Order: sequence, then C-alpha cells, then structure tokens
Amino acid sequence: MQSNLRVARSAMPDCKIWAVVKADAYGHGLMAALRGFAEADGLSLIELDRALELRAQGWHKPIMMMEGMFEAADLAQMQAHQLQPVIHNDEQLAMLAAASHAGPEGTDGIDKAIDVHLKVNTGMNRLGFAPGRVREIYEQLAAMPVVRSIALLTHFANAENPQAPLLPSTQLALFKTCTEGLKAELSLCNSAAVLLQHNMHSDWSRPGVMLYGASPGGGSAASFGLKPAMSLESQLISVQSLQKGDYLGYGSSFQAEQAMRIGTVACGYADGYPRHAPTGTPILVNGKRTRVLGRVSMDMLSVDLTDLPEAGVGSRVVLWGEGLPIDEVAEAAATIGYELMCAITPRVRREVRG
Ligand SMILES: *Cc1c(COP(=O)(O)O)cnc(C)c1O
Repeated sequence: MQSNLRVARSAMPDCKIWAVVKADAYGHGLMAALRGFAEADGLSLIELDRALELRAQGWHKPIMMMEGMFEAADLAQMQAHQLQPVIHNDEQLAMLAAASHAGPEGTDGIDKAIDVHLKVNTGMNRLGFAPGRVREIYEQLAAMPVVRSIALLTHFANAENPQAPLLPSTQLALFKTCTEGLKAELSLCNSAAVLLQHNMHSDWSRPGVMLYGASPGGGSAASFGLKPAMSLESQLISVQSLQKGDYLGYGSSFQAEQAMRIGTVACGYADGYPRHAPTGTPILVNGKRTRVLGRVSMDMLSVDLTDLPEAGVGSRVVLWGEGLPIDEVAEAAATIGYELMCAITPRVRREVRG
C-alpha cells in the first residue's frame, strides 16, 4: 500500500491525495489501510460508521464522504467529527440549510462549520448538479454559516480508454467552463486518470484501486509499477484421480479427456472467489501456474495437477495476488479486479503482513 501510494505521488507530484478506502478499503480491511496510507493527505469513503472508526483510531487528517449525507442525522455526526461531505443533490442542500439555522456554533457552542465538496455532473450522470446550476449552488453554499469552505469535484467515466465515447478531456472542458472563477480546491482524478492523464492538474486526486495494486485498465498493474496489496491464499485439501471420460463437480461441466490428477482447493464463492470463473482460469499451486477446472462451488474449487506431480494435500494455493495478478483472474472471469477485491467475505481470515 505504501509503495503504491508512492506511485500515485510521483505520477502527480504537486497533487494532494485522497486515498479512497470505501468498501472496507476495497476488501483489504480499513485498519490495514489506515496504516498503509498514513502518508496520504486525506482518506475518502462512503460509510459513516467506518469514517467514525477512522477518527476513533486517531486519523486526524481530512476525511471526505463521497456520497455525503443519506439523512439529516448524518450531518450532525459529520459536523461533530469534521467529516467533509460531498453535496450532490438538493435534499442534501436542504439538510445543510436547516443546520445553518442553528448557526456555525451549535447550541453547545462548539464550532459546527464544515468543509464541503460540490459535485458537478459532467456526463457520468450518476451524481452531481448539472453544469448550468453549479454557480447558483455554489452561491447558496457560500451563504450558509455552516459551510466553512467549498471544494469542487467531478468524476471521469473513461480515463483508461482513449476510444471511449465520453473522454476525460470533454468532461474536463465542461467542468472548467461551469466552475471558472469559483474559489475552490479541485479534486478530479481517479486511478486511471492519475496513471494515464498526466496533463490534468488539480489540487487533489482520488485514487482507489491502484493503491491496492490492481490496474484501473489501460495497462497492467506491473507496467504502472504497482504491487498487489492482497494475496488470496488457501491450500489443497484433497487430491483425486480422474479416468478418461470422468466428470467433475456440479453440472459435470468438465469431462476428463485423459487420465489426470486433480486437486481440490478450500476456496469457493462463499469466500468471494467468482463462481463464473471458467475452466482455464489461472491459479497457482506451489507457486506454479495451473488452471481451475469445472464449476466453482460454494466452499471448493478444483485445479489441474497434471503437470504438478509434487503437489499434494497441504500444497499452498494462491488464487490471486503474489505471483498472479488479480486482473488476470478478473479477465478470465469476465469482471474487474475491483469486484474481486470487494467480494472477499468475512469468513476469510485476514492476515496483515509487513
Ligand atoms: C471509487 C471512487 C474513486 C476511486 O476510483 P478508482 O478507479 O478505484 O481509482 C474516486 N472517486 C470517486 C467519486 C469514487 O467513487
């Protein structure tokens, strides 16, 4: 994590970094991220309960709440703990307006003013105010006693793909036009933009997936100098011999074309391994690359041991991570590294190394 953070730092040396730690730090564990990203300028996430944990654990630097308040009660917590909400809809504006009636100093005399982020919808069309409303909203926020400062942000749909129908340059041009002259810090770049859009200057970046050592697309993680932060590991718990014509597992989707040795790995979709990973998905046994066979089941999956005569019960299995990029497994399973990381379930034992 530290090393990947340095990659983000050197890609945009003048840019402060919001390390994105939503979804339990993309499945890596929020407390591991707290240590790994100690050098980040701020942490950014969605979940209020987790943000409060970060404060309780002593994170005193900024925290951005990327979807802001979900209900009015959230705002009081954000004020009390100096969490910076992204304001992206009228309902949130109304919550701030209501809190402003109490003044920047609440009834208890404690400073309740907060820093907020105004989200601009530049074409992603998930969150944010239409460009034509941004000035008006900015002025509204600026007039609220509870708002100490306003930053501006937008999010790119396709920073990793120069062939995409909506390019970052188009989104950026729109963003610049509708925010020109507004006094605000900007945060723009996700991982793909940090790694690939070098001419895009802003005050802050918001990298996520790259900090965990996976690629956002547009090149392999290794080509960007990233190292996997997570290794998903298990072991062989059984070895079986198949004769020519034997079937394997649920649905009997794999049939042996010749006699072969196979192994059973204690890992399945109840651990977060993708059920849709087909026969041929890469996997390491004793550090050697082989392939998944047949259908992944809840608690187990099978692997080809034909070329691994030394492998047996107890042999170490790496499903992704050290020696096997998560992006390769994701591609075989028709998904992205992001989804695999986030899908690790609570029953998987976490071991923090290093
Ligand atoms: C998740 C998220 C990011 C991080 O995206 P990566 O592709 O993981 O770098 C940045 N900004 C926002 C608003 C996000 O929701």
